Amino acid sequence: MTVLVFAEPHGDSVSDATLATVTAAAALGGPVHILALGAGDAHASIAGVEKVIVADDAAYANGLAENVAPLISGLMDGYDAVLAPATTTGKNIMPRVAAQLDVMQVSDIISVEGPKTFKRPIYAGNAIATVESSDAKLVITVRTTAFDKAAAEGGSAAVEAAAGPGDAGLSSFVGLDAVESDRPELTSAGIIVSGGRALKDGPTFEQYITPLADKLGAAIGASRAAVDAGYVPNDYQVGQTGKIVAPDVYIAIGISGAIQHLAGMKDSKTIVAINKDPDAPIFQVADIGLVADLFNAVPELTEKL
Ligand SMILES: Cc1cc2nc3c(=O)[nH]c(=O)nc-3n(C[C@H](O)[C@H](O)[C@H](O)COP(=O)(O)OP(=O)(O)OC[C@H]3O[C@@H](n4cnc5c(N)ncnc54)[C@H](O)[C@@H]3O)c2cc1C
Repeated sequence: MTVLVFAEPHGDSVSDATLATVTAAAALGGPVHILALGAGDAHASIAGVEKVIVADDAAYANGLAENVAPLISGLMDGYDAVLAPATTTGKNIMPRVAAQLDVMQVSDIISVEGPKTFKRPIYAGNAIATVESSDAKLVITVRTTAFDKAAAEGGSAAVEAAAGPGDAGLSSFVGLDAVESDRPELTSAGIIVSGGRALKDGPTFEQYITPLADKLGAAIGASRAAVDAGYVPNDYQVGQTGKIVAPDVYIAIGISGAIQHLAGMKDSKTIVAINKDPDAPIFQVADIGLVADLFNAVPELTEKL
């Protein structure tokens, strides 16, 4: 079974999400090829990859799903399966690919059990379903926190250019308004400091969470309540409808631990919770819990670090 991996666009380098997806693809047993929208040489260095197809036509430069999906489905005559990370980009593109191929997408897999059999979480991670596809071609998104990263170096894949159908004429790129940050990216950070509704407002969130994150070299996350109230941007959200993270250390501050939040972080290796309510559900998953007022505890912790 030859398997295609859609590489998450990541400037001139390879994203951790792509490396984890390569591991999932390799578990299917066949040769692994990568479709990259740029950075062909960087992707060619990934261990275990046989071929990199680079589509650097201007139509694909900004990863517009309307253009990239037909590019992928057009390549699928040569492949039995295509995998992409279950990131915002992957989740935007792959359902379109599945529709174009008239197959059922297998979403958010956490393990490969057989050539067409996978495990995936359902009910916000409260149950794990084992699913078997009966489609001729597999379209899969991968929960990247569930797979080890493939080695970024050591491979020497052949690089070839893909033509592709180009601009589908359905959408156009207007601009990118991204927050520049030196912080680690949320989904690949080793440590995450996350704040909830208790932080009151944006300036207070910044005043209490940022210095602690700075001390720890951590990424910053947030509950949906904090995002909805405008304390921090939407892409900070951890949870069922936000990002799925599994860092070495996750510090939840003033977060109650609603099931939808836990769905995004309960696989973290060590969970630390600071909450003034001893009955807060977050303490049921926490390895280390501190019942305290965050407005005292967080500055003290930051100071001591
Ligand atoms: C379909 C759906 C999807 C959802 N998806 C997500 C998601 O992806 N991510 C997500 O986070 N939520 C999600 N939610 C919302 C979720 O149900 C909760 O409403 C949300 O997580 C609550 O956020 P919170 O813990 O910050 O706020 P709250 O539940 O209000 O908790 C605030 C906590 O702060 C504590 N606290 C207050 N003051 C202090 C203080 N001074 N010191 C210390 N502790 C203090 C309180 O004891 C409390 O436990 C979703 C909900 C639905 C219905």
